[in-house]
Amino acid sequence: MSTTYAYAATDATAPLAPFDIQRRAPRAHDVQMEVLFCGVCHSDLHQARNEWQNTVFPVVPGHEIVGRVTAVGSNVTKFKPGDLVGVGCLVDSCRTCASCAEGLEQYCENGFVGTYNGVDRVDGQITYGGYSTQLVVDEAFTLRVPDNLDPAGVAPLLCAGITTYSPLRTWGAGPGKKVGIVGLGGLGHMGVKLARAMGAHVVLFTTSPSKIEDAKRLGAHEVVISKNPQEMEAHLNSFDFILNTVAAQHDLNPFLNLLKRDGTMTLVGAPEHDHPSPQVFNLILKRRRLAGSLIGGIAETQEMLDFCGQHGITSDIEIIPMQKINEAYERMLRSDVKYRFVIDLDSLRK
Ligand code: NAP
Ligand code: ZN
Ligand code: ZN
Repeated sequence: MSTTYAYAATDATAPLAPFDIQRRAPRAHDVQMEVLFCGVCHSDLHQARNEWQNTVFPVVPGHEIVGRVTAVGSNVTKFKPGDLVGVGCLVDSCRTCASCAEGLEQYCENGFVGTYNGVDRVDGQITYGGYSTQLVVDEAFTLRVPDNLDPAGVAPLLCAGITTYSPLRTWGAGPGKKVGIVGLGGLGHMGVKLARAMGAHVVLFTTSPSKIEDAKRLGAHEVVISKNPQEMEAHLNSFDFILNTVAAQHDLNPFLNLLKRDGTMTLVGAPEHDHPSPQVFNLILKRRRLAGSLIGGIAETQEMLDFCGQHGITSDIEIIPMQKINEAYERMLRSDVKYRFVIDLDSLRK
């Protein structure tokens, strides 16, 4: 056991504050790491404030983690001390169900173990995430970080990157496809970069006129202000696929109207309150589909990291010390992030 400095929320209304935890000694298949950087995902905020009503307090959020290996268990073969590694939203699953067998651990039929707010399958302890100086994770859920990428900019790939990469791949984003990304936040800006690198025609939908230039710089071919009905109408019935990353309840109809016959809109945003049901005829008359998607499996996360290595893709980040996390949450709620906060954990090391 070793003392780890962390930040936790002790209840749904409390600001995050310093909290010391004990990490387990590495088990045979464990990798122990010093956490270097941790991205700040909107899911961290939803869970710190119990907006999904399943938070176990105290909660130490953080699932966009880049670290340096400091020790490994006796049976570890994939990693050694000194390696740069990543950890995303998952730290374990049953490994035997049909979904796990297909490498879709995020859909584990016996329940995946979250990096935080999960229950360790061996010792029954609540898991604590990456807003902390050290982490211990099974090597099967530890990723290799490409060595040509900036480690701080890699951290958000572990959730925002894979959560957009996986549906873009599943629904075939690529040359000849018109792809919409809704919302230019942490997920959305990765969606724009990845869809562009996959070769699709990319249209970014935003509620923030101030983000138009950034969206183009990040790779969007076109930018639409989604609150402007004329701009929306120009794209009616034209999209193969729309990825909706919005973190708040909103009307889905204006976006469904933009899909071609047989087009799909996939929701990855997970707001506190459900969206109102879309109009059924909007779906029926053009055989449109409304879908959802959860992060991605471990093999696909490694594939995404390697893809980013090949294409030189990282997240656009603003580095903050741990002590600024509560301010960062307030700015995230105002859509004032360009485009992901990343915590430098050196700020917590004594
Ligand atoms: P974020 O950085 O806060 O970005 C969300 C974006 O949504 C904002 O930048 C804003 O973009 C837009 N937006 C916010 N409020 C809006 C409103 N009222 N109406 C319309 N647009 C609004 O959040 P994030 O970290 O990217 O996460 C996005 C959502 O995905 C969260 O709900 C998060 O929990 C969820 N998530 C899901 C998964 C999964 O596996 N499915 C994984 C990670 C995160 P504009 O300013 O451009 O309009
Ligand atoms: Zn996340
Ligand atoms: Zn399983």
